[in-house]
Amino acid sequence: DQILLHVRHLKKYFPKREGLLSRITRYTRAVDDVSFAIRKGETLGLVGESGCGKTTLGRTILRLIEPTSGDIFFAGRNIVTCRGPELRNLRRFMQIVFQDPFSSLNPRMTIGSIVEEGLIVHPDLLQEKKKDDPSAVPQRLSQAEQQRRRRELVAAILREVGLDPDMMTRYPHELSGGQRQRVSIARALVLRPDFVVLDEPLSALDVSIQSQIINLLVELREKRHLTYLFISHDLSVVEYLSDRVAVMYLGEIVELADSRRLYAEPLHPYTQALLSAIPTMDPKSGRQRIILEGDPPSPDNPPAGCRFHPRCPRRMDICRTEPPRILNLGGHYVRCHAVEKDLAGRGEFVEEMD
Ligand code: SF4
Repeated sequence: DQILLHVRHLKKYFPKREGLLSRITRYTRAVDDVSFAIRKGETLGLVGESGCGKTTLGRTILRLIEPTSGDIFFAGRNIVTCRGPELRNLRRFMQIVFQDPFSSLNPRMTIGSIVEEGLIVHPDLLQEKKKDDPSAVPQRLSQAEQQRRRRELVAAILREVGLDPDMMTRYPHELSGGQRQRVSIARALVLRPDFVVLDEPLSALDVSIQSQIINLLVELREKRHLTYLFISHDLSVVEYLSDRVAVMYLGEIVELADSRRLYAEPLHPYTQALLSAIPTMDPKSGRQRIILEGDPPSPDNPPAGCRFHPRCPRRMDICRTEPPRILNLGGHYVRCHAVEKDLAGRGEFVEEMD
């Protein structure tokens, strides 16, 4: 399958400044040597507790946050080295929907202006599609025509996300939470992206509204052939939406696999603990809740060896000193000494997940 996004050895360290002179005393390792790939049309779920680095990872991929090091290839181009107009042009194809639709929408702008903004930056999107004549020369549009065309596109995308185009003149505070999230989705999709980072798009919404937004995201994915990175702490929603799932802990991906395989046969003790917390309707499932000791340690000062070792029910001596390598079991990637031991000799060690 064609790879759309390829992230290689990505790191994002935030300096911590302390003391009177505000010296950098240490670094928060929010994303620490993460590698993975997303195929065209695929949805990759990214899960983990809050503070594990998943939001920073999502934003760094789009270069809303500058990476410390590593590469991010999008459609074969390394966006880490892109500058100016080239970066602006690539950004059109990579959009984000934020968690909180209230704080991410400018309260002083109308819905129409919010959705229209991106089209002002990308006037090439205003060209009418000439179905019968692919060689047609782009038209030169007057200011008035451009404005008319922008309004048409905004009305069309609002309809597509289930909103009445008359809402264009309204302000975010006049809308419900679900409607605001639909506006955020319209703002991202009006630029006809290929790839969308969905950063906890449901967590600020009522449960009754969540399923409507999930259905909308699925519908839009099919219709527009979208590729998603779906960031969430809710593992049941991730299972429903994702083809593959990556599990993040303290800045690292500890397991990545096909969604069905990961949910049926989680290998990493952290994934097992996360999955054991999902309520099951099946009393015969035999699933026991695994309670982890303590909270996640700070990414300012991650534990030596396996970062999960202070909380891990399966830790061994080696876990305190040696970071586990990435074991590839036919596309099911995991980093854990205990799994290595259980599977003695199966799979191969690799430098990157993909
Ligand atoms: Fe637990 Fe050791 Fe595996 Fe880490 S490497 S998850 S501490 S068993």
